[in-house]
Amino acid sequence: MPQLGLGVFQVAEDETTAAVLTALACGYRSIDTAALYGNEAAVGAAIKTCGILREDLFVTTKLWNSDQGTDKVRPAVERSLAKLGVDYVDLYLIHWPVPSTDRYVETWQAFERLSAEGLARAIGVSNFTIPHLRRLMAETSTVPSVNQIELHPGFQQQDLREFHAAHDIVTEAWSPLGQGAALAHPVVRDLAQRHGKTPAQIVLRWHIDIGNVAIPKSVTPSRISENIDVFDFELTTEDLRLLEALDTGTRVGPDPEAVGTRPSGFSTRIDQTL
Ligand code: NAD
Repeated sequence: MPQLGLGVFQVAEDETTAAVLTALACGYRSIDTAALYGNEAAVGAAIKTCGILREDLFVTTKLWNSDQGTDKVRPAVERSLAKLGVDYVDLYLIHWPVPSTDRYVETWQAFERLSAEGLARAIGVSNFTIPHLRRLMAETSTVPSVNQIELHPGFQQQDLREFHAAHDIVTEAWSPLGQGAALAHPVVRDLAQRHGKTPAQIVLRWHIDIGNVAIPKSVTPSRISENIDVFDFELTTEDLRLLEALDTGTRVGPDPEAVGTRPSGFSTRIDQTL
């Protein structure tokens, strides 16, 4: 799985194809979408026209909360595959645990069947906490390959990252730039100046150095290009220590325990969908 990908949450359908094509031209090979985002078909249009072999791309999509449950998973993945115009996704994620409906275990068992059939090369989860992961491990036979979670300098999720490492689960960071908020911090700005890089590049390099997969979102070609240009410099141990100290435990998104039970406060669009 590439350590850097393009996220397309809140990218309008008519902007998505161009953003994905720009990213692929800049060297990205991993795209993160979701049924919720309403732009799988536009991602599919980019996949179809980009001229890159399917096996060289890494396509992730996610099952939306209302499609959890034994009988709903298969039709949901078929809809996503049809929109994306692919025979399989490289990674299929349960978007949120939705503890209030308590269907994530049976949903995961349906994911195991999709994996056996080859419709998803890898299966994982998103926004799962340690108790949710422990329950999957206790009640099913497959450990998720990936947990995609909110993770940025202001919200570093140390305990969950350690749990992932102990169980060979890839930590994938969503809102890796804290939706832009992390870029204004004086420590980040100072490091950017010292390394001759941008604040976004400092934060993304930090993700790479601590072993995360990161999927920054942008539709601006210069930023898309900037965000993958992070492999020609290294942060020092002291730099990493300074960045580690920025953790304030402050989310930009909702608490996974709450999603599906009440308005999330994350974005108007998600709130309307829940
Ligand atoms: P992000 O941290 O990637 O921030 C995106 C914002 O940062 C952009 O809107 C832009 O304003 C700014 N930005 C991007 N590159 C920049 C640069 N080089 N310089 C200055 N500003 C820059 O936040 P996000 O979009 O919330 O998260 C990224 C991706 O994570 C999403 O697109 C989606 O794929 C995924 N995601 C998943 C979940 C989930 O529940 N699984 C939730 C949210 C996001």
